[in-house]
Amino acid sequence: MQTMKKTWGTRPITTALMLTAAFVGATGEGALAEGRPAKELFGGMTLPAKAAPSPYGSYAKGCIAGAVAIPTDGPTWQAMRLSRNRRWGHPQMIALLERFSKDAVQLGWGSGILIGDISQPRGGPMLSGHASHQIGLDADIWFTPKPAQPLSPQQREDMPFTSMLVKDKFLTVDKRLWTDTHARVVVQAASYPQVERIFVNPAIKKKLCDTWTGDRSVLGKIRPIYGHDAHFHIRMRCPEGASGCKPQAAVPPGDGCDKSLAWWFTKEPWAAPKKDPNAKPAPKPRAMQVSDLPKACSTVLQARGPANEYEVTYQASGGALPSSAASAFAAPMASSPQGFELPAVVPVPPARPSGW
Ligand SMILES: [Zn+2]
Repeated sequence: MQTMKKTWGTRPITTALMLTAAFVGATGEGALAEGRPAKELFGGMTLPAKAAPSPYGSYAKGCIAGAVAIPTDGPTWQAMRLSRNRRWGHPQMIALLERFSKDAVQLGWGSGILIGDISQPRGGPMLSGHASHQIGLDADIWFTPKPAQPLSPQQREDMPFTSMLVKDKFLTVDKRLWTDTHARVVVQAASYPQVERIFVNPAIKKKLCDTWTGDRSVLGKIRPIYGHDAHFHIRMRCPEGASGCKPQAAVPPGDGCDKSLAWWFTKEPWAAPKKDPNAKPAPKPRAMQVSDLPKACSTVLQARGPANEYEVTYQASGGALPSSAASAFAAPMASSPQGFELPAVVPVPPARPSGW
């Protein structure tokens, strides 16, 4: 293999590619058990696999080819924590976020939305944070609107989260912070047909159950979960035709303001797990390996990337490209993946898909 001088962060690109190629090509899947954890390999990727947009696997165990980036700054959004490089998603996810950002402004949500993590350039497990967000179909939205004065990149690193809950009080939404607009914005996010679930803290779900007077048909999509008190999480269903995408079970019928919600207000979900005094110490959990992911993910990992970030930034609603070339990443040079080819390259869609 030709020597490549470009480096990815501090790690030479070649290392990641050669390691993967060796594992997949020569040793078969069994040997992958001893390999580098998938989160290190996917976490080291700075650009997507250049291919038709294609999620593989499930939200918490998969990867994505052909992801595109949301511009760091748009007319009605800003992406936060840029250093994490998690602005990547399925083009339909990015299109949805851009559409949602406009709708949120219409609802009175400041000058737009602040976008947290979407996915890594090739999805996959992450070195820090979430278990999900692996296939470009999950996105976190801050419960804080974008201020009129755009935030600098540094402010976007440093700005603390604001919890919507009362500190030191059990599952209680802070009335001084939570407004009707918050409720409208969350319900709006749930209302798009391509959105399957919205995750919020149980206290926020209860607040919606108790106060929402509009159409309740989409409330069922809003699901209570741990955390999610300073941001909410939008999960899209598998896009049509994405045969590698493993769908999640459908949301049960009803508004979800039932005993499944009441359970969160019992002790059970918050109790420390019971310890069996006679139990052997649990073995250290084994880090997820590339071989644990769908087969296509090792190809996604090895696939050629675009020349730079600009080529794969979604520009349908405008928005600024990164302010300097310094934030455009160097492309991985050609490493010919052996054995299989990804589908032909499809350009970034020029406009958001119709038929919402
Ligand atoms: Zn999330």
